[in-house]
Amino acid sequence: MSVVNVVKTPSYDEETVYSAVCRHFEALGVAEDLKPETRILLKPNLLYGKKPEAGVTTNPAILKAAIRWLTSRGFTNIVVADSSGGLFTAEYMRGVYSASGLRVPGIEEYLNRDFTFQTVPTGKGFTVKSFNLITPAAQAEYIINLPKLKTHAMTTVSIGVKNLFGTIPGLQKPDMHRRYPRTEDFVHMLCELCETVKPSLTLLDAVDSMEGNGPGGGTVKHTGVTLCSRDVYALDMMAVKFMGLNAFDMPHLAAARDMKLLPETVTVTGDDLIPCSPAFRLPDARKSTGFGDSVPRILRKPVEKVLDALLRSYPQVDKSVCIGCGKCAESCPQKIIRIENKKAGMPRRGCISCFCCQEMCPVHAIRAHRGLRSM
Ligand code: SF4
Ligand code: SF4
Repeated sequence: MSVVNVVKTPSYDEETVYSAVCRHFEALGVAEDLKPETRILLKPNLLYGKKPEAGVTTNPAILKAAIRWLTSRGFTNIVVADSSGGLFTAEYMRGVYSASGLRVPGIEEYLNRDFTFQTVPTGKGFTVKSFNLITPAAQAEYIINLPKLKTHAMTTVSIGVKNLFGTIPGLQKPDMHRRYPRTEDFVHMLCELCETVKPSLTLLDAVDSMEGNGPGGGTVKHTGVTLCSRDVYALDMMAVKFMGLNAFDMPHLAAARDMKLLPETVTVTGDDLIPCSPAFRLPDARKSTGFGDSVPRILRKPVEKVLDALLRSYPQVDKSVCIGCGKCAESCPQKIIRIENKKAGMPRRGCISCFCCQEMCPVHAIRAHRGLRSM
């Protein structure tokens, strides 16, 4: 049985968040896991440098509260580390830390300054034989995973399991997209990564979440809650339910079920977890075609399946918004994006619909557009 603890957390006010973290960590007995010398990694979501109010990154108040709780109990061997969507270098990450509001007392002194990586072997029978992990993740003895609740153009949602993709260094992430272009294979890889990284605890920032075109270009939705669990899959299941969505419509949870990684039962403790109504809006790339609605109910699923086989979502640039920064081209695993006359061009041929480009676009110039599958 897995436990997911819920605490209503109405705002990012420092004391409000600290009190929520105290309730979570005490309910789950976190202090009993730790010794003064335990190497602790706090792994936020730092997709790219963005001010906290944008809802893209884990809010600094969550990090500050976790660090305060740990240090006040004598657990000081802490590092805060993530690898964003761009480069994994001191200079690039300094910019991300600044823009995301992490260069403040109580967090700054714990920010990662090691930008190397290590190769870590995986378990028996895994498809991926080893992962390159950022050194703080490879060396940590206790990982506190700190995701942000968001929708995601490729994986539908980004919660605890997806947050661990940030343990892959820098531009090796697009490489993983290139190796696993099908969503089914990509989420299987994510589950194997999760089994390799093995977070000890996951604390979800769902005070403000993101719906629509997440994980970078959606809209902020105030949801006023934090969730915490030792079981990242149980936490993801409950978070999806909270979003008003169906857990097994999420590719990574369907994969985790097939890999027998899900708990048999999940108990929710703490405050009530009431599903959002209306449910979270999905990214354009993950919306159903809606054609199935015009046929009798019994035929809807097969019709949607056929349409899915014929159609695919592709990125499309709004040239009136594009500023020609090239971040989409840098993150494209297929290297098919060209910047000409300070505007991005995205051909369909070769596109694997990973939406890394949309994820990294700082001005939300990229939309999803459904079209016939490119051969
Ligand atoms: S164009 Fe965008 S969606 Fe297509 S492969 Fe490149 S990054 Fe992925
Ligand atoms: S990331 Fe966005 S703004 Fe920058 S070149 Fe690509 S589409 Fe244009």
